[in-house]
Amino acid sequence: FFIAIEGGDGAGKSTQVEALAGWIRAKGHEVVVTREPGATPVGKRLRSILLDVSSAGLTSRAEALLYAADRAEHIGSVVRPALERGAVVISDRYIDSSVAYQGAGRDLSPTEIARISRWATDGLVPHLTVLLDVSPETARERFTEAPDRLESEPLEFHQRVRAGFLTLAAADPGRYVVVDAGQEPEAVTTVVRHRLDRMLP
Ligand code: C5P
Repeated sequence: FFIAIEGGDGAGKSTQVEALAGWIRAKGHEVVVTREPGATPVGKRLRSILLDVSSAGLTSRAEALLYAADRAEHIGSVVRPALERGAVVISDRYIDSSVAYQGAGRDLSPTEIARISRWATDGLVPHLTVLLDVSPETARERFTEAPDRLESEPLEFHQRVRAGFLTLAAADPGRYVVVDAGQEPEAVTTVVRHRLDRMLP
């Protein structure tokens, strides 16, 4: 069973990933918690290239392909093997992040970005995608560390990213749970648990 957690920077994804993993483990499942970009040895190197301030001039297409390469390696070497042995996999970000950031956020076609990722993953679709939706203004207040390259983007960029995520969720409501991530973390977890309770094997 494959769960993707999506949302903008500062939406609280890592907190929710941990809370959900604990709850699913307590039900007796093996849970693999993972993330994009950077879950594999090569992925870690790609992540540092992607997020370093020195990559500021990276072209949009090169950026999109590096994310896709990270994803191909992640799915092939971590996610598919875990799913094949029956584990529940929770990924902090997946294809929707590319469609929202490299597509809606930058100047590339969201359809093309989705197509590249479909090829990179050989068509692996999550059973459930959790979209943690929060306004970029609220999210920004949550940053405690120095912002990385993306977090330094203007507010309008993050507004386009947010709209990109919401468009994806609206197009396929059966596969998404959209949660107001401006709420307390416990309230967010409760909404997601309620949905998962009916879906988990
Ligand atoms: O979620 P995490 O903090 O690990 O993401 C690292 C950075 O990469 C974030 O600033 C996020 O905005 C950016 N990112 C991106 N495109 C993706 C995935 C992440 O720009 N497809």
